[in-house]
Amino acid sequence: MARNPLTSAFAKYVMTAYVKEAELVTPTMRRIRLAADAPIAFPYRPGQHIRVQLNDPLSMYGILRPAETLRTYTIWDLDPDRRGLELRAHLYDGGGIGLRWAREVSPGDAVTFWWPQGDFHTREDAPFHLFAGEETASAAFGPMIRALGAGARVIGVLESESPEHDMPLPGPHDLIRVHRGGAPAASSATLVAAVSALDLPGNTGAAYLAGEALTCRVIRDHLVRDRNWPRTAIKIKPFWTPGKRGLH
Ligand SMILES: Cc1cc2nc3c(=O)[nH]c(=O)nc-3n(C[C@H](O)[C@H](O)[C@H](O)COP(=O)(O)OP(=O)(O)OC[C@H]3O[C@@H](n4cnc5c(N)ncnc54)[C@H](O)[C@@H]3O)c2cc1C
Repeated sequence: MARNPLTSAFAKYVMTAYVKEAELVTPTMRRIRLAADAPIAFPYRPGQHIRVQLNDPLSMYGILRPAETLRTYTIWDLDPDRRGLELRAHLYDGGGIGLRWAREVSPGDAVTFWWPQGDFHTREDAPFHLFAGEETASAAFGPMIRALGAGARVIGVLESESPEHDMPLPGPHDLIRVHRGGAPAASSATLVAAVSALDLPGNTGAAYLAGEALTCRVIRDHLVRDRNWPRTAIKIKPFWTPGKRGLH
């Protein structure tokens, strides 16, 4: 098969793996394990993501519809031999190309992905770590919390639709679960209220806010204005928001 010359120029950032397993871990969270033929040589820090190529961004289709090409998923786990990795994909109620892929991808399917660096990872020197976000954010917080280890002081609020949608996360940590119960996840009053009610040990920690963009922004403003956190101590990574396709 003839290779797209543009794709070849980017080949060092792109690789293909095969789906080994795909199964639900909650009613709306799918675990997708990929296996590569050769060890994955890219640099990696827990919290970083890959961009799954659903349509070639360097093809005519991709150039005309750049928002309909790549979708971003955090690496939940990278095997020590670097031949396998796992993603956790949220099956929200909607119709995007990422959602369709996450619902339908099955063992044996080839998956081409791009490996950008991404700077959404933990700050090891912080005295405590504050996490807040919904289901998509949980998929990123899992590997970050695992990397911090059981000895780290981890505080936070994780929101989901209902208790059966709570994704198990690593460690014996102090994470509060809250539930929307049918309310929208965008601009989530439930999550904001739960973070506002937290009894935090001051403002010297590191905060990680991910998931729906507007909710993240309101929580950051709360920490800065009401709790006097320095902006630089807050990492914010919008994953999706109404009206925007394929955030990265
Ligand atoms: C750095 C980064 C890391 C990410 N990691 C993960 C991850 O590990 N697991 C994961 O599941 N997602 C993750 N996401 C989010 C994921 O990329 C998007 O949910 C995915 O792109 C959905 O693609 P889509 O084509 O279905 O919808 P998009 O084109 O992204 O969005 C179209 C519309 O669908 C709606 N929508 C999208 N996502 C949601 C949602 N979750 N809930 C409600 N409505 C939604 C919104 O109205 C949006 O405007 C990450 C995003 C980023 C930027």
